[in-house]
Amino acid sequence: MNTKYIFVSGGVASSLGKGIISASLAKLLQARGLRVTIQKFDPYINIDPGTLNPYEHGECFVTDDGAETDLDLGHYERFLGVHTSKANNVTTGKIYNTVISKEREGAYLGRTVQIVPHITDEIKRRMLLLGKSGNYDIVITEIGGTVGDMESQPFVEAVRQLQWELPDEDLISIHLTLVPYLNAAKELKTKPTQHSVQMLQQSGVHPDIIVCRTEHELTPELRRKVALFCNVKPGHVIQSIDAPSIYQVPLNMAAEHLDELVLQHFKMEGLPEPDLRDWNAFLKKLMNPKSTVDVALVGKYVELQDAYKSILESFVHAGAANECKVKVHSFQSENITAENVAATLAGMDGILVAPGFGERGIEGKIEAVRYARENNVPFFGICLGMQMCVVEFARDVLGYKDAASREANPSTSHPVIDLMEDQKSTTIKGGTMRLGAYECRLEKNSLAYKIYGQEIISERHRHRYEFNDEYLEQIEAAGMKATGKNPDTGLVEIVELPSHPFFIGVQFHPELKSTPEHPQPIFVAFVKAAKERRAELARKQSK
Ligand code: GLN
Repeated sequence: MNTKYIFVSGGVASSLGKGIISASLAKLLQARGLRVTIQKFDPYINIDPGTLNPYEHGECFVTDDGAETDLDLGHYERFLGVHTSKANNVTTGKIYNTVISKEREGAYLGRTVQIVPHITDEIKRRMLLLGKSGNYDIVITEIGGTVGDMESQPFVEAVRQLQWELPDEDLISIHLTLVPYLNAAKELKTKPTQHSVQMLQQSGVHPDIIVCRTEHELTPELRRKVALFCNVKPGHVIQSIDAPSIYQVPLNMAAEHLDELVLQHFKMEGLPEPDLRDWNAFLKKLMNPKSTVDVALVGKYVELQDAYKSILESFVHAGAANECKVKVHSFQSENITAENVAATLAGMDGILVAPGFGERGIEGKIEAVRYARENNVPFFGICLGMQMCVVEFARDVLGYKDAASREANPSTSHPVIDLMEDQKSTTIKGGTMRLGAYECRLEKNSLAYKIYGQEIISERHRHRYEFNDEYLEQIEAAGMKATGKNPDTGLVEIVELPSHPFFIGVQFHPELKSTPEHPQPIFVAFVKAAKERRAELARKQSK
């Protein structure tokens, strides 16, 4: 069987959830036994989002093979439970980079290099690349941006060409639009959808299925109207109604027969019904929590929810695993001081200090660590959050008042967190951090080992600075233990305080591997610790 290609474009507005629709469809197809992957084509000229401020584009998701990618790849992995790679995220920057390098090498000697056919050929090559690996039955390609944007035109043009080059039953085009509800008129409006589909058709791409994002049920008449004006079969207009959880969307899409329509088009009928037993078990727990915990997320990008997407999703998974609703309260670390930290974080059952870059908001993070350490509040530090545990400990327990990470204070006399040797000579910013999956060996007698239940783990990294080994002995002698190390380099990856009920800092990003069906163990244990603390405080109060 040929690999089948599904292209998902979006119209009317951005942020309609193309990534979630793509991931939901992928989930349904995978649950029928097919091998599915999803890739994202982003129209911006950055080579990858690694150099983008989180305020611009949300979290930067990191794959096992060290690609810095769009956060939608996080959704793909969470829904499918399979790892993505460098090849799953392509940007206009990458396409042009390849074409321009080839031009310099002389690959197009004598010819004028143009958007059509050279750029579109390179786009098509990459669109088909994962399919050609033989590892997948179905490749879903999400086209970033909105149809009609100048930037995404070459991608749409590439899909147009592929519509002619591939057999009809090997390619399907799905268009996601918004059907807004006008409160004053009490009416859903289809005109924006009509215009968006017209625009797509002007580019020569004909949608086979239209998915309408809506806040209210679409009536049969309204579906017929969209079908008529947009030139698709009546049954091919489906709704994506607002859902209480993104993890509900695969079920909503199954109810709308999205997967069946796609399989009919591919002439792949007769597959088993989707097996969603584990997914449904997760959803059931998610929707029926038996208790609640309040957890603080201390970071500096808290104004934008997407900046900590994977952390927030990990809490959803870990909450369900504990049958507990995790209420995450975001705190801007810039506003936290020694004077207000106790009042600010009072009532929190657990404190997570988030990853981050640069000096801004650092002192507030250190105060949050101190508060958690001194008050026995369950604590979880991730990447910069772990580094701040070490700084706080060095300042308060070792008495090195100006201890710091070299990143925040280049002239500190105690750089307990410092640049690795190989990072010192790096001047280029893009793709030069310590990136991707690395192994870590856990100390047998540690919280980390208790949590993971195995000695060797693998987690993903994205940082330049490291625990400075010169301070290891002193720090350990004073009571903070390095319980996880890289087996090849000896770099410290995990620190703990055995005297504290739950205190762990990790140099890696555990949030990048959490899924509903396999919640990340540290998050699960952290939520459990928060739950226990809350129950204990309640017991004490009632006495
Ligand atoms: N800024 C720190 C470093 O580069 C931490 C990075 C992070 O939190 N992802 O090491």
